Amino acid sequence: MKMLKIVTIVVLIAGGAAAPGSAVAADAKNEKSGKPYPLKTCVVSGEAFGTGGMKTYVFIHEGQEVKLCCKSCLKDFRKNPAKYLKKIKAAEAEAKVGKK
Ligand SMILES: [Zn+2]
Repeated sequence: MKMLKIVTIVVLIAGGAAAPGSAVAADAKNEKSGKPYPLKTCVVSGEAFGTGGMKTYVFIHEGQEVKLCCKSCLKDFRKNPAKYLKKIKAAEAEAKVGKK
């Protein structure tokens, strides 16, 4: 009787670890890696990263990675994300031309 119980538990664990769980994990990974941020400075303040002991704040906005010099710049970004995304796109286009 004891043996039967163990077999049942093993089957339940094996069944629970099947495919759907790993598909969800893959989606979460995609969510975290957007298009790379093209600027070397904060798109909001124009400050270089890592100055004055500020911690660089990185997040993904609509599939675009955005880096800010500090978390307080996030407030400004949220006020007008379209304006800053336009700046990022322009910098991205410029970077492509520069590479050739
Ligand atoms: Zn900042």
